[in-house]
Amino acid sequence: MSNPARAIIDLGALRSNYELACSLAPSSRTLAVIKANAYGHGAVTCARTLEETVPAFGVCCMEEAMELREAGIRKPILLLRASFSADELDAAAEHGLWLSAYEEAHVEALAGRPGHEPLTAWLKIDTGMHRLGIRPELVNAMIQRLLDSGKVRPPIVLATHFAAADDPANSFTDEQIDRFRTATRDAGMPVSMANSAGLVAWPGSRAEWNRPGIMLYGASPLSTPHEVEDRLRPVMQLESRVIALRRIEAGETVGYTRNWRATQPSVIATVAIGYADGYPRHAPNGTPVLVNGHRARLAGRVSMDMISVDVTDIPETRLGDPVVLWGRGLPVNEVAA
Ligand SMILES: *Cc1c(COP(=O)(O)O)cnc(C)c1O
Repeated sequence: MSNPARAIIDLGALRSNYELACSLAPSSRTLAVIKANAYGHGAVTCARTLEETVPAFGVCCMEEAMELREAGIRKPILLLRASFSADELDAAAEHGLWLSAYEEAHVEALAGRPGHEPLTAWLKIDTGMHRLGIRPELVNAMIQRLLDSGKVRPPIVLATHFAAADDPANSFTDEQIDRFRTATRDAGMPVSMANSAGLVAWPGSRAEWNRPGIMLYGASPLSTPHEVEDRLRPVMQLESRVIALRRIEAGETVGYTRNWRATQPSVIATVAIGYADGYPRHAPNGTPVLVNGHRARLAGRVSMDMISVDVTDIPETRLGDPVVLWGRGLPVNEVAA
């Protein structure tokens, strides 16, 4: 028997989610963040699907950008992280990669680069995330330094990143927007603030450039319910099949560590998927699973390549029945929670 565990990637859903992201800010340019192998969905395939419509892609680092270039992706690629070593600056120039400068040393490395064709760079400003970015009061001096050097092609996109935009009630995002607007007011450069959560829940963060990631894959970017969930389509469906069925008595236990105990005579379905396939090992008893389209609950610890599900309330369950771990009808956010 071949392994029935599958991650099915719906590229039509990816296109539809990208269109939704664009429709929220029709006058912005919306780059598609496909870092970390497109959030696990396959960077090259996702890039090919979106390449004709996006103005640029965002990835974490040079290795991810080169994977796309080697696969023939031609659109500009923004590196969200970079070392600014001489080698990396040369590679950025050769392969049409845009750099994010988030340290004064990066600005110096760009400005002091020996005579070559200018690079495209974004300047990242720390407005409260305190992870990457220069201090807001340095913005104008850093822009001047880059423009005077002639080594950076204007315009320089000014960017920041939100710490708590997933919570629409958290006013820290307003503070970040205010700080950013103040810091960039005199620069006369295009700006970029919004990740997915900003784009969906913080209209004031929509700007010349937006940078959605997670929503493109159909997961809600917000920590509270929001109508956008009904318009996003899950790109990944993780599915498998029932490979064993058994009846157990009240009081008997299921799985490693025996941490699930039947409170009544129960029917347990064994499903061919486990943590080796990417199903989270820490998923607790009660985690929702769809068996034949019906909701059931995880019973017992996740094994390496199997899980057990309580299907007592789904008496028509049979060997070979389809099981969805997340996807249509079972949002990954719900499983994650
Ligand atoms: C990952 C990332 C994004 C995308 O964030 P989502 O929350 O997935 O939309 C945008 N900007 C930066 C700088 C990032 O690192």
